[in-house]
Amino acid sequence: MSSEKSLAIVLRVVDFSESSAVITLLTQSAGKISAMAKGARRPKSAFFGAIDTLSLSQVIFIPRRAGSLDLLTEAKLVRRFRPCQWSLARLYAGYYLAELLDDFTEPHEPLPELFALAVQTLHDLQTPETDFAYQSVSAILLRYEMRMLQLLGHGLGLTHCAGCDAPLIPATLAVTDPVDHLSNRRMGKLFFSLADTSLVCRDCCRGRGSLIGFSERAAQILRIFQDPHDQAWRTHTPWGSHPVFRDLLDQQWLGLLNRPLRLTPAIRQLTKKEHQRQSAARTKAVRD
Ligand SMILES: [Zn+2]
Repeated sequence: MSSEKSLAIVLRVVDFSESSAVITLLTQSAGKISAMAKGARRPKSAFFGAIDTLSLSQVIFIPRRAGSLDLLTEAKLVRRFRPCQWSLARLYAGYYLAELLDDFTEPHEPLPELFALAVQTLHDLQTPETDFAYQSVSAILLRYEMRMLQLLGHGLGLTHCAGCDAPLIPATLAVTDPVDHLSNRRMGKLFFSLADTSLVCRDCCRGRGSLIGFSERAAQILRIFQDPHDQAWRTHTPWGSHPVFRDLLDQQWLGLLNRPLRLTPAIRQLTKKEHQRQSAARTKAVRD
């Protein structure tokens, strides 16, 4: 078979022998592939630096029959994954993204939009946290995961009730609105039904299994994060670190995979920390 050239993100590297490794890549043109990289572990390997986890590289590979490994013949580093200041949270977020891509994509199924989304997200994770451009890691992940679910055909129902199909159109979200109480079960008017992967109204929520109580504001925020054209999530990232969204996404992935993701506990922990930090900052701002 003839060789193929593509941009690719390195998802996983497993040593195969003393000198070779098996590399799992998400390629731009051919989707996920697993390829043998002969001599990759030698000191002066031609792949040097280009097959580290989360590197973006230009690769050449020879596809093989279904069920056997492709052959990686060349890899040139385009961009290394270097989270700013080696923030541990950003590093974990990158590995979590690799885990999602590895677990939820099929070999040789091209997903160019998902590839572009992943490249952009890795870029976002490397953008310095300055006072001017602060994007919380939780928000970057929430954006990524909402978009990934939709691109895989599992987008969440956020506009109509899954029971009676009534449109759920809350008022427009003001940018200055506080972000607390997103999941108040008593006060909330909406519920997210995990079985329907959609919002349901109060009238339709009985007998639908597990529900997450949602305020209308929470629904609006999720819509912003799911909408590919809405960039408002970038300027209002404290929204994205609310634990109710983390719960929701963890349940979605668990439902699709039938087992927890390895890095879910680490991501839950970092979301909790960011949320606490942001709540403390708001309290201080009110006090000052
Ligand atoms: Zn309803």
